[in-house]
Amino acid sequence: MTAVKKAMLSCLSSNDCLISAARLKNYLNQQGITPSRSTIWRELSFLLKTGLIRKVTVGRKIFYEMNTAAHQHLICLHCSAVFPIQLDLQMLQAQAEQCGFQLSKEQLQIFGCCKNCSRGIDPLK
Ligand SMILES: [Zn+2]
Ligand SMILES: [Zn+2]
Repeated sequence: MTAVKKAMLSCLSSNDCLISAARLKNYLNQQGITPSRSTIWRELSFLLKTGLIRKVTVGRKIFYEMNTAAHQHLICLHCSAVFPIQLDLQMLQAQAEQCGFQLSKEQLQIFGCCKNCSRGIDPLK
């Protein structure tokens, strides 16, 4: 395993949820690893192929996370903070079935306002 891949995996697994390629690159830079963007893309697509990580699209942005048990995401519209949650999907499944609808992806995203933002604290400052 390459040093870049190793560092990427340790970042993805210590970050328990979605992370963008840009943040991943920042993290690597902090570790003194400075891969090019194309190296990062190559490693990401390799990790996706092996099934170790998965890709999640939020709006137009692409994020990555470890391919752990399925979960859903609460996403703050203000600061883009992401909170993993576990919903009981049985009701969703049952209602979909009533419509004769087959669910293929259970990447449920719920948008709102996080605690920091609702307090008026800008976490980006
Ligand atoms: Zn997640
Ligand atoms: Zn927020």
